[in-house]
Amino acid sequence: MSEYFTMLVDRDVSLEDAEVTLRNVVTELQCLKIIVDDLTDDCVLSGLGYRPGTAIHEAYKTGVTESPFWQFRTCGVEPTVKRHFNYWAYGPSFDGVTCPNCKTHFQNLPDHFSDGIAQWLDQSGPAIVECTECNIGTAVDLWDAKNPFGFGNLSLIFWNWPPFDRSGWKIDIPGILQSVTGHAIVSSYGHI
Ligand SMILES: [Zn+2]
Repeated sequence: MSEYFTMLVDRDVSLEDAEVTLRNVVTELQCLKIIVDDLTDDCVLSGLGYRPGTAIHEAYKTGVTESPFWQFRTCGVEPTVKRHFNYWAYGPSFDGVTCPNCKTHFQNLPDHFSDGIAQWLDQSGPAIVECTECNIGTAVDLWDAKNPFGFGNLSLIFWNWPPFDRSGWKIDIPGILQSVTGHAIVSSYGHI
């Protein structure tokens, strides 16, 4: 079975504050019983994640032909605290980028985009990517992407959870993250 995910990213939190901010987000989701208390390794593809909690049945109403995602093997919420982005939005789930300066849309990645990403990840350089249309350089994390790359220091991957704009959702999970963190939340997605 192919795996789908939504990745929610706090792009504004500093690396110093990311650990505490994550703890606040996790505590809130646990209080709402949206996720369980403990991390386990059997609900994500690698690493650790939180299984959906007991209130997930009320939080999401499945459609008639839809299987409850909380019964899938891979259904955990995987947190990451470090410089990170959605690799799949750069690869198989790539959907074009737009220069923030001249608004030219590129359906293929501009030259040196991967160099910019590498520099951004390990902070080894300015991570500037020059637009071939307007010749203006912009930091790679400020380029617009239809499926956002989700650059940031704090992210949560929701494995096989339906997209959060689907009508079955009775709670607003990106809104919860926004209110707990005090930051805008970027939503990205991918298929594996
Ligand atoms: Zn441009």
